[in-house]
Amino acid sequence: MSEFVFPLPSPVSAPIRGRAQRFPIRRIFCVGRNYEAHAKEMGGAVDREAPFYFTKASEHYAPSDSTIGYAPGTTNYHYEMELVVAIGTAGFRIAEGQALDHVFGYACGLDMTRRDLQSVAKEKQRPWDIAKDVEQSAVLGDIAAAAEVGHPNHGRIELRVNSQQKQLADISQLIHSVPSVIAHLSQYYHLQPGDLIYTGTPEGVGPVKPGDRLEGSIEGVGTITVQVDS
Ligand code: MN
Repeated sequence: MSEFVFPLPSPVSAPIRGRAQRFPIRRIFCVGRNYEAHAKEMGGAVDREAPFYFTKASEHYAPSDSTIGYAPGTTNYHYEMELVVAIGTAGFRIAEGQALDHVFGYACGLDMTRRDLQSVAKEKQRPWDIAKDVEQSAVLGDIAAAAEVGHPNHGRIELRVNSQQKQLADISQLIHSVPSVIAHLSQYYHLQPGDLIYTGTPEGVGPVKPGDRLEGSIEGVGTITVQVDS
């Protein structure tokens, strides 16, 4: 007789570019409003003092080159193209100067969002979970190991929908840089290998329709492609 009343779900993991081994995904942290122009397009304030976060369950991971469902319960499902940091070494209260030593690598990510429900949540001062913690909403490209690509702090980030450019910025425009986010987040969490940090999206977010094809890239990191189920 099994120890469990039903089979244990398979662990969630992502491919690593050029390697046979995969990256096990632990927690998914996301930074809100981390590019000035996006904070403005959302009508929000730019918080320069400290980043803020929300989370997604790792079960909501969806790989690049897959088809994701149009999320139920929304009529305004949005893309958000983001640089994702993959943590490789545990740390707590990490100094900004040591932060990059904890990074395994980087990937392109899409933080898919029920924008209509997020607007209601903001208006009613409710949590964002139902807008952000959405099944198949943590789309992630192959992870590029820092051992191969280094620690990119500038480079073009872009997203095309059905070949039309929708987002275009540079990761150097992040309000809170990767080291400062790691230093800040690790004041509150014991970061663990396998944790992912979606660092926030630039301006130009918008809705998808069933059947849309999303293609993103970050210079020096890689690409991501996903199809919305028709
Ligand atoms: Mn986001």
